[in-house]
Amino acid sequence: MVYDNIIAKTTQNKFGNLMELRDYFSDEITCIKHLETMRWNNEPVCPYCNHKKIYKFKDKKTYKCAKCRKRFNVKVRTVFEDTKISLQKWFMAIYFITSHKKGISSLQLSKDIGVTQKTAWFMLHRLRYVSNTKEFN
Ligand SMILES: [Zn+2]
Repeated sequence: MVYDNIIAKTTQNKFGNLMELRDYFSDEITCIKHLETMRWNNEPVCPYCNHKKIYKFKDKKTYKCAKCRKRFNVKVRTVFEDTKISLQKWFMAIYFITSHKKGISSLQLSKDIGVTQKTAWFMLHRLRYVSNTKEFN
């Protein structure tokens, strides 16, 4: 999936302002479902072996591949993988980045979404990387 797709479906093209985005993505499950729809169209595919027979866990966000037996969630092999940052904050960061055409500093982003500057720098770094390569995965 390309990064442009996330921007189109996650940020100001869908939401008139930040408050609308924040209200809509009010909890992590909503954010996860949104990503699942964008990435898989609600038919999960194993990110490790591309197999399509998948078991779903009761927590509604963990899956297990019937072939390679690995567990995964929608964040695996995406820019959002392996971080403790909530998806709401990631989506807000994308919103700010795409709103500031001249770029946004890590200091400003840290204030805007309430994370440390180090975390903001990390997020900008990852988002810039996928933005440059146009690859979401
Ligand atoms: Zn698999």
